[in-house]
Amino acid sequence: MKILVLNCGSSSIKFQFFDMEGEKVLSKGLVEKIGLNGSCLVLEKATGEKVIFEGEILDHKVGIEYVLGVLTSEKHGCISDLDEITAVGHRVVHGGEHFKESAIVDSNVISEMEKCIDLAPLHNPPNLKGIEAISDIIPDMKQVAVFDTAFHQTMPKHAYMYGIPYSLYMKYGIRRYGFHGTSHRYVSKRACKILGTECENKKIITCHLGNGASVAAIQNGRSVDTSMGFTPLEGLLMGTRSGDLDIGVVTYLMEKEKLGSDTASILFNKHSGMLGLTGISSDFRDINDKAAEGNELAKIALVMYHYRVKKYIGAYTAAMNGCDVLVFTGGIGENADQTRKAICDELDWLGFEIDEKKNKGLRSKEAIISKDSSKVKIMVVPTNEELMIARDTKLLMEDK
Ligand code: AMP
Repeated sequence: MKILVLNCGSSSIKFQFFDMEGEKVLSKGLVEKIGLNGSCLVLEKATGEKVIFEGEILDHKVGIEYVLGVLTSEKHGCISDLDEITAVGHRVVHGGEHFKESAIVDSNVISEMEKCIDLAPLHNPPNLKGIEAISDIIPDMKQVAVFDTAFHQTMPKHAYMYGIPYSLYMKYGIRRYGFHGTSHRYVSKRACKILGTECENKKIITCHLGNGASVAAIQNGRSVDTSMGFTPLEGLLMGTRSGDLDIGVVTYLMEKEKLGSDTASILFNKHSGMLGLTGISSDFRDINDKAAEGNELAKIALVMYHYRVKKYIGAYTAAMNGCDVLVFTGGIGENADQTRKAICDELDWLGFEIDEKKNKGLRSKEAIISKDSSKVKIMVVPTNEELMIARDTKLLMEDK
């Protein structure tokens, strides 16, 4: 069975094409700058070589035509006919309360997804455009939607409700939804597989630390709490997002700086976090470099970053009355050994003991990095959301 996975953003489409026999990636790449000058498709060969196809890619439909063209091209392709694609799996950011798991796309699913646009106005519309484009180009193609929020739908009410009038939850669906669900689900399952155990009866904390970042508490394979909330703004300090913040700061600044809701949203989503604090960059490597050179703001931003992740680990250990496994993933979690060490330092009282030798220099590789004596297994598990989407798509195709 061959499955195409699409992740459609506002001006980009990431794709991976899988042969599910052996879960082999046959082709992968990215369409960039859709509707802008310089639009192109970048094909990433298994050798690491990149092949760039430039063209006028005005919308998502043209972008997907480029992807399908590359898959079937004589020189760079891997199939001779589009018939060889069994199904297309799409990453969809918001599934609201309706979607508790992945779903085969039909008219009902599309109308439920449209109802979620209000909750993710920047993300869900391009996700829907990708689905529409496939329906236009290959009308009989089976499609599956895999939601970032779905994994967290198992959170209990006391974890997902906010302390605001209940009527606002009823009227607008204001509650914690959580994001990165496909990643948290993948790495928690994978960690259990590596440990040779089932997720049942396990208490796992997963830290997805990338440009966006979130922590999840996972008990018996189900998400019971997570740090992102109604939007991806809540929780950890991120590349450009503030994370947890007294709401009083928002109203105060809106008044003092005469900010409208759009400008305030841009301030907290795009100009805050590590970038806003340091004025250097949102990229962790740049901040690490500047801190090493002695830049005080970079140093304090890193300490703040570690401190926040540590607080969430403590909170979720308390929420689950224990923790068996702590997993690091995402660009920072997978690569930044100093960050993992700084987060785990002085968590030994709670049973987290990192092994400096196993941790040091470890990059993008599955590994256990805790001491043998550590009560909690600390692990690095590179995330693979595309594979998880492909697996869900395959399962739903087999169930049909
Ligand atoms: P992601 O959003 O998961 O792609 O993660 C992006 C973040 O990972 C950026 O802040 C990068 O600076 C960070 N990152 C990637 N590689 C490294 C590395 N070797 N050391 C520190 N941070 C890294």
